[in-house]
Amino acid sequence: MKNKIIAGNWKMNKNRVEAEQLITELIPLVADSKNTVIICVPYTDLCKAVKLTKGTNIHVGAQNCHWKESGAYTGEIAPSMLTEIGVEYVVIGHSERRTYFGETDATVLLRTKAALAAGLKPIVCIGETLEERNSGNMENVLRRQVVEGFKDITEAELNNVIVAYEPVWAIGTGVTATDEQANDAIKFVRSVFAEKYGKKAASALYIQYGGSMNDANAKGLLAMSDIDGGLIGGASLVATKFSAIVNSHK
Ligand code: PEP
Repeated sequence: MKNKIIAGNWKMNKNRVEAEQLITELIPLVADSKNTVIICVPYTDLCKAVKLTKGTNIHVGAQNCHWKESGAYTGEIAPSMLTEIGVEYVVIGHSERRTYFGETDATVLLRTKAALAAGLKPIVCIGETLEERNSGNMENVLRRQVVEGFKDITEAELNNVIVAYEPVWAIGTGVTATDEQANDAIKFVRSVFAEKYGKKAASALYIQYGGSMNDANAKGLLAMSDIDGGLIGGASLVATKFSAIVNSHK
């Protein structure tokens, strides 16, 4: 049995004072967990988060990185700038990045490849919209996101990747996929990875569910056969809620 990987995506929330309060409250609440706990915080909170979590079981991630090491890319951040300050993980291709900032499977691939080369562990997000699901295109969309978004990723690199299946209709909406819907979609995603990397690599791959996961529904979702963890937005902003999700799977 794999342990679970539970990652909080703070999005554009928490200034430095609020971040310190949340992390300080969270540390003892998750200290006994055997699951991997990650918090993906805004860039301005990264240094503080790394410092505060040193010696604890909480790992720190960013929410994006660029594929170049330096240059005229205003507003972007290089992977080595993250590793230099002790960041271990990075969210890539979140649906909000795809929807609002023009992220595509091609840029997701570039960012993932660069993150891996720098020694970061990317959490690569995929997922269908409600329209895509209702029109019977869910599997086509998920297949395309995996095939295109992982085109140049080797099997060795895949070892250091986490995939987050996040149906867009469930993110921040309060509408969660049922345990079965989430598990079935993740099983399908895993089968697409198996076509390219083989069954062993695909079953070793961590695939999280994300989309309105909270302290009430986490236990059921995390008990499903193919759900290896969660990527949590809203509920990760409250220490007691996020820790309840972490601790819902022993
Ligand atoms: C997310 O940001 O990845 C997410 C799943 O958000 P929420 O939990 O708020 O739906």
